[in-house]
This record gives sequence, C-alpha cells and structure tokens, in this order.
Amino acid sequence: MRYTDIAIIGGGLAGSTAAAMLGRAGIPTVLVDPHQDYPFDFRVEKIGGDLQLARFARTGIADSVLRSATLDGENWIARFGYLLDRQPSRQHGIMYDALIGAIRNEVAGSAEFICDKVVNIATSSERQKLVLSGGEEISARLVVLANGLNVGLRRMLGIERLITSHCHSISFGFDFVPVGRPAFPFAAMTYFSERPSDRIPYITLFPVENRMRANLFTYRQADDPWVRAMRRNPVETLNAALPRLRRLTGEFDVAGDIKIRPADIYVSTGYRQAGVALVGDAFASTCPVTGTGTDKVFTDVAQLCNVHIPAWLSTDGMGEEKITAYYDDPVKTACDAWSNAKAFNFREVSIGSGPYWQAQRWARFLGYLGRGTLRRLQGSPAAPSMTQPATHFRQRPHAADRA
Ligand SMILES: Cc1cc2nc3c(=O)[nH]c(=O)nc-3n(C[C@H](O)[C@H](O)[C@H](O)COP(=O)(O)OP(=O)(O)OC[C@H]3O[C@@H](n4cnc5c(N)ncnc54)[C@H](O)[C@@H]3O)c2cc1C
Repeated sequence: MRYTDIAIIGGGLAGSTAAAMLGRAGIPTVLVDPHQDYPFDFRVEKIGGDLQLARFARTGIADSVLRSATLDGENWIARFGYLLDRQPSRQHGIMYDALIGAIRNEVAGSAEFICDKVVNIATSSERQKLVLSGGEEISARLVVLANGLNVGLRRMLGIERLITSHCHSISFGFDFVPVGRPAFPFAAMTYFSERPSDRIPYITLFPVENRMRANLFTYRQADDPWVRAMRRNPVETLNAALPRLRRLTGEFDVAGDIKIRPADIYVSTGYRQAGVALVGDAFASTCPVTGTGTDKVFTDVAQLCNVHIPAWLSTDGMGEEKITAYYDDPVKTACDAWSNAKAFNFREVSIGSGPYWQAQRWARFLGYLGRGTLRRLQGSPAAPSMTQPATHFRQRPHAADRA
C-alpha cells in the first residue's frame, strides 16, 4: 500500500495541471494515468483570450507551458467574404498531446506520476483506497477525479451523468494548406457563418508550429449526410457552405486526416460525497464551439489546489461538508454557469430564427466592423478596409522567432 495525501485519477488537462500545482506546493501527491505519453486526441488546440489566459495564470504553470505553443499575434475577423477587423491576438496554438506533455513536464517536487489505470475506488470521510490494474494499492486522504469522459469509476461511486443537450455540436479538426502559394496572408482568422441555415457558427484558422490548423464547428447531428460529405470531400463541402471564405484565404486544400468529434453537454449528479472531488470534464462538459472547456478546467483546478485542498489538509478528516465547499465555491459556480449559458446562447445566435436572433447576428457583425474601422482610423498599420481584402501573402514567422 502506497500512502499519500492526494491521489489524482487521470493525467489529462485537469489532472496534470493539479499534479503540477500540488507538487510545487509541497503536498504529497500521486498522479495516475494509463499513458506515459498522452496519445493524439482531438480536443482543445489553442489557449487564448485575456480571460482564459488569466485563468491559466492562476495555476502558476502557464508561462512555462505556453513556451511550447505558437502565438498568432493577430487574428482576422471576417464574414460574408469581408475582413472586418484585424485584432491584436494572444491565441497560443498547441496540439492536445503536446499541451499535456508540456504540463506533465511541470509535475515535480512532492508529486509523482504512476503509469497505470485505476480499476477500483472506495471512499470514506477518512481515507480513500484506489486499486490499480497492476495490483498496487494507494491510500490517500483525498481523491481528485479527473478522468474526463470515462464513466466507470464514477458509477462505482454512484455518480451519474445528466445529459442536458445530446450532440449539441460537432467539431472538425484538420490542417488547412494554401494552394499555389507558400502561406496564407494572415497569421490567424475567425470566419463567421454566411447563412444560419448552414448551421456553422464559425471556422477558426490558427498556427500550430509551421502548420495552419482549422477547427470548424457545426450544429448538426452525427448521422447528418453533411458530416459524411465533409469527411469525404472537405474542400468542396466547405466551399459550398462558406462560398466567400476563399476571397480571403485564396485556394486551399485539406491535408491529412479530418478529426470529427460530436459533443454532448452533461453535468454529473450525486457528486457531493466524502473523500472525492471531481474536476474538469469529469464534473461537467461544455460545448467546444464556445472554447470554455479549459476555462472550466483551470478554474476548478486553481480553486481546488490554491484554496480548498490546503484548508482541508489542515484539519482531520475529509467529510462531505469539506468537499461541498469546493462545489459551492462562488468562483467555480460562476464559471460553470457562464460556460453553460454561453453554450446555449452561442447556438441560438448562430442558427436561431426569428427577428431577435437576426438582430443579434447583425449587431455582432456591426460591432466587429465598428471596432475594425476605429482601429483603422486610429492609424493602426494592420487595420483593414472592408472593401479591400488584403492581396499580399506574407510568410508566417516560425514559432521560435515569435517567442
Ligand atoms: C473537439 C473538442 C474541441 C475542444 N476545443 C476546445 C477549445 O477550443 N477551447 C477550450 O477551452 N476547450 C475545448 N474543448 C474542451 C477541452 O478539451 C476539455 O474540457 C478538456 O480537455 C478536459 O480535460 P480533462 O482533464 O477534464 O479530461 P481529459 O483530458 O479527457 O483527461 C482524462 C484523463 O483521464 C485518464 N483516465 C481515464 N480513466 C482512467 C482511469 N481509470 N485511471 C487513470 N486514468 C484514467 C485518461 O487517460 C485521460 O488522460 C474541446 C473539446 C473537444 C472534444
């Protein structure tokens, strides 16, 4: 039997971040995950925006982790084939396996990694017991359950999942390459839908190392023939759905595999229990379209590791009344509510019918146009003219040059 204060089940974004934080804080911690190196997985591929970066910063590892990412510097905002704004941007592109690898490099001090799978769990208000597939047993004061979408261990604890929106959205990830030119004219671009009937909120193009990565989002069902068409003929299908995108990108191709991922929105139930705290996707999912999954992960982990765990360890026991303080934490509940509301609101703004949602779409369009025009009038050399899409094609500097 191995004894520790904290046992973390799952070394994805939430679990690895928690282990790095607790190791730095000198709290004895064991992180268990079946993969020594995180395998390729289509999940978040960029971290950015002031709010998300501020949330990441609260974990204390953001600066060193983001050194492995590719900063865009500027993001074009476009719709209907027109460039509306060239926003200064701090999107950091990084594939999920590389992101988790960079975070795990920060796991040190009093935290150690065990490459194994947890197959059994028993909790109480004193000590928690885990059994690993190799037969090893771990006794911990607290279990942090960070095993993402997996339901097996949660069921053992009587924790269920309530799906609030089945197949809320489908995400596509692929490499987007210029045809007949060495590079695109932009570092990054967010291109919003041309018609609500296409059920595409937006496509985001952003650099990851020396590639241009595309994340395309749709509000469609998994058996929709459009999804099949996108897999088989991505360029033709994309051009049919967003016919004026090419005005800004020029001719393009899709290289390599297309990753397709439907997402349900769910929240766990029955989680208020002694001895165990759920973080990240293990607690609740959100919609990838809104890009708030990592906000939730960083908020859960920062509140748990900065605020609650140090307080809980300072007194005996790990009863339900202690754990409840984390689920009722106002910072966590506000972030969860914001993320959930955004998932449903974004869907309506993108595809909702009726005058209210049409007005919302136009308001957003005019907002971006207004900000872009203001930036241009203020003399920013990068600012666009709506009627004159850029005609030059610049070579993007390599990630290392921008760092
Ligand atoms: C297609 C897609 C695109 C997304 N895009 C964005 C975006 O742009 N922005 C954003 O903010 N969010 C995005 N998200 C959400 C974000 O990726 C997730 O919220 C986040 O990755 C969840 O991390 P996690 O650590 O909770 O789960 P995971 O990363 O899934 O980690 C779970 C870990 O648990 C381990 N595990 C499972 N069972 C066991 C066991 N029995 N024993 C030990 N270990 C176990 C697994 O091996 C895994 O390492 C996206 C999600 C998807 C699906």
